[in-house]
Amino acid sequence: MSSATEKESPKVSNFLRQIIESDLAHGTYAQRHWAGSPGDAAHHAQGPLDTAKIRTRFPPEPNGYLHIGHAKSIFLNFGLARDYGGVCHLRFDDTNPEKEDTEFVNAILDVVKWLGFDWATNGSSHLYQASDYFDFMYQAAEHLIQTGHAYVDEQSAEQMKAHRGDFNTPGQDSPFRGRTCEENLLRFRAMRQGEVPDGAAVLRAKIDMASPNINLRDPAIYRIRTATHHHTGDRWRIYPMYTFAHPIEDALEQITHSICTLEFEDQRPFYDWLLARLSEDSTLPDGRILKALLASPNPKQYEFARLNLTYVVTSKRKLAQLVSLGKVMGWDDPRMPTLVGLRRRGYTPESLQLFAERIGVTKSDSWIDYSSLEGCLRDDLDPKAARAMAVLDPVPLVITNWDALMGAGSTDACHAPVHPHHPERGQRHFQFSKTVWIERGDYEDTPPKGFFRLYPSNKVRLKYGHVIECTGASHDASGRVTEVQAQLIPDTKSGTPGSDSVKVKGVITWVGSTDALQAQVRLYDRLFSLAQPDAGGKDFIDSLNPQSLQSVTAYVEPSLAQSQPDAKFQFERHGYFVADRVEHNEGNLVFNRSASLKDTWAK
Ligand code: ATP
Ligand code: MG
Repeated sequence: MSSATEKESPKVSNFLRQIIESDLAHGTYAQRHWAGSPGDAAHHAQGPLDTAKIRTRFPPEPNGYLHIGHAKSIFLNFGLARDYGGVCHLRFDDTNPEKEDTEFVNAILDVVKWLGFDWATNGSSHLYQASDYFDFMYQAAEHLIQTGHAYVDEQSAEQMKAHRGDFNTPGQDSPFRGRTCEENLLRFRAMRQGEVPDGAAVLRAKIDMASPNINLRDPAIYRIRTATHHHTGDRWRIYPMYTFAHPIEDALEQITHSICTLEFEDQRPFYDWLLARLSEDSTLPDGRILKALLASPNPKQYEFARLNLTYVVTSKRKLAQLVSLGKVMGWDDPRMPTLVGLRRRGYTPESLQLFAERIGVTKSDSWIDYSSLEGCLRDDLDPKAARAMAVLDPVPLVITNWDALMGAGSTDACHAPVHPHHPERGQRHFQFSKTVWIERGDYEDTPPKGFFRLYPSNKVRLKYGHVIECTGASHDASGRVTEVQAQLIPDTKSGTPGSDSVKVKGVITWVGSTDALQAQVRLYDRLFSLAQPDAGGKDFIDSLNPQSLQSVTAYVEPSLAQSQPDAKFQFERHGYFVADRVEHNEGNLVFNRSASLKDTWAK
C-alpha cells in the first residue's frame, strides 16, 4: 500500500462497521455452520462451526466490464471481510439468461485480482455462480407452493399490472390466487416442461395484495423464458426473478451481511419474508411437517449509497452502448470509467482504494466530483512516479552563441534526480546542445502581464541546464513561431558554483535535439460535457465531449527509451503520464496523460 493510503489509517468507521461490530459483540452469527460449500440447511448442519466471523459477497452480473462504482462495492465487501476476520465471496449473478458472456466473466476475475483481492481464503476458493443454484431455487419455489406461499398466475401482463394498484390504491387478488397446492404444483411443473408459452404464466409469492409496500403485493418469482443460458444451456425453460434468486443465493452461501445499493431498500421486506418462509418448519394441510430448507440465522440486507461520479456514466449497459456505437475505442479506452479503462489511464489499485476510503460509505445518494478521483491518483503517484521532461508542443530554441562558447557540434551533459525526494533512485541523464526543444507556449513576442517565460530580452533558466537570454524569434507567413533564439549566459549551469548569480523569474522545461525521443502522447478531457450526463432520463450520448481526446507528437527525454508498458511518470510541469499498456513499446513510445498536476477542472 502507498504511504498516502497508510496515512488514512486507522479505518474511519461507518454504519456498516458499527453493525458488524455489534453483531460480533452479540454473537449474532456465532452458531452458524459452514459445510465448505454453498448448500441448504441439511448440508450446512453436517459442517463445523464457521471459522469465518462474517461472510460478505460481491455479486456482479457478468453483462459488461466493471466500473468505478463496482470498485466501491469491491473495496467495501472484500475490505470488511478482511478487517473482521471474515470471507468475501465472489459470485457471478448469472440468473438472467440473455445477457451474459464469458468474456465478461474473465474480465471481472482479472480486475478483482488487480484491485488486490482474492476469493481464495483459508485454502478454499469462494468463487461461485448463481446459476449453479438453479436446482435449489426450483426446489425453494416448490417448497413455497407446498406451504401455500406461492401460486401460478395466468393473468395477462396487462391484467396483472392493472390489479397491482398503486401507492394510494390497494391491489386486487388475481382470480388464480385461490388455486390449490396440487393445481399450482402441476401448473408450475408444466411451466418447467415448456408446456406453457413465454409470458403466459408466472409463479408469484402469495403475500398481501393490499400491502402498502408494492413489492409485497404478490411479487413474481419465476418466469418462463425460452433462452440459452451461457452456463446451463437449454436445460431450463423457467428462470427465477432477481428478487427471489438473490436472497436464496445469500442464504445458500451463509452470507451474514448482504450489502447492496439503496435502490433495493424497498425489496428488503421481501428479502426477509422469503428467507423466513424458507427457514422455518411448516405444517402441511395433511399434517405432515416440511422441514426448513435454509439454515438460520438468515443473512441480512443492508443498503448504502451507490457511487455517482460527475462527467461519466456508471452503468454497464450505458458503457456497453458507448463501445458498440464506436464512441470510444473499447471497454478499456482510457476515458472510460471502467476499471480496465482507468487502469490503462494510469490509475493504480492504491489510488482507487484511497478514493474508496475518502468517499466513505453513507446512506444518502450524492454525486462525487471527478476531480476527487484525480486527486487520489496525484496523491498516490506523487511520491512514487519517476520524473521526466517532455515537450508536448515542440518548437526549436537555438542558442546563437553556442558555437563560440561551447564549440560547434558539442553537447553538454546534464542530469536530474529520478525523484526529488528519493536520491537513492539515482539520476536521469540528457544532453544540452545548440538546439533544444521547448514548448511553443513558453514564448511570446509581447508578454502578457505576469508572463515570466521567454520573450525578447528576458532571461529564464532551462531547468537542470543554463540561464539563457531570449533575443527573438522567427515566424512563418501566418505569423506562427518557427524558431526561438537566445544566448547562453556563461557560468550559470545548474549545480555548479555561482550558477544562481543571475536571478530569473521563469524556469522552463526542455529536451535536447540530439537525444530526445519522439512519442505519441494522448491528452484527455472529460468524456462528457455535462456533469450529470444521464440524470433525469437524458440521452447521455448527446452530451459526449467531441474534444475528449487529443493526440500529439511530442519529444521526451532519453531516460524514457526503455520505459515499460504501464510505467508511471510525472512529466515535469505537465502532469502524470503512463506508458500505454497496449500500444507502448521500445520502438513506439505511447503515453496517456493520467491527470494534470493540479486540478484544472474545478474552474
Ligand atoms: P450496472 O447498472 O452498472 O450493471 P449493477 O448494480 O446492475 O450495475 P451488478 O453487476 O449487479 O451491477 O453489481 C454488482 C455489485 O456492485 C452490486 O452489489 C451493486 O450494488 C454494486 N454496484 C454497482 N454499481 C455501483 C455503484 N455505482 N456504486 C456502488 N456500488 C455499485
Ligand atoms: Mg445490473
